Amino acid sequence: MDNCIFCKIVAKQIPASVVYEDDDVLAFKDINPAAPVHLLVIPKLHVATLSDCTAEHTAVLAKMLTLVPKLAEEHGVAVKSDGNGGRSGGFKTLINTGPDGGQEVYHLHLHMYGGKRPWRGLGT
Ligand code: 5GP
Ligand code: ZN
Repeated sequence: MDNCIFCKIVAKQIPASVVYEDDDVLAFKDINPAAPVHLLVIPKLHVATLSDCTAEHTAVLAKMLTLVPKLAEEHGVAVKSDGNGGRSGGFKTLINTGPDGGQEVYHLHLHMYGGKRPWRGLGT
């Protein structure tokens, strides 16, 4: 898609700190991180918003979601269990959709936030 910044990142026309790539999805560091770990997971094929997704996007959406816990492991923010029912660590996932959803880049993306709180603009 012309003039889509995330399509340009997929095409390597502009640089990004890529942390995962396969045929269908790309994950990279957010340029303006709101948390110590702030990654974006996108489909390589352009789709503007979650509301534009149809049944043909089901597989890539599942792939994006199931990638997140693997990225969390790799970036030190996975959920850890103490064996007594207690947990630590963890992360937040978010998809902003449309103007009222706070979407600024119109290429579907899943935010993954993790690390020590508080996080900028995301509560405590
Ligand atoms: P949205 O508000 O659309 O859900 O979030 C867009 C996100 O993309 C923002 O967190 C913003 O910092 C990030 N972003 C915008 N342009 C670029 C870019 O050129 N490179 C990277 N790595 N992130 C970007
Ligand atoms: Zn795009």
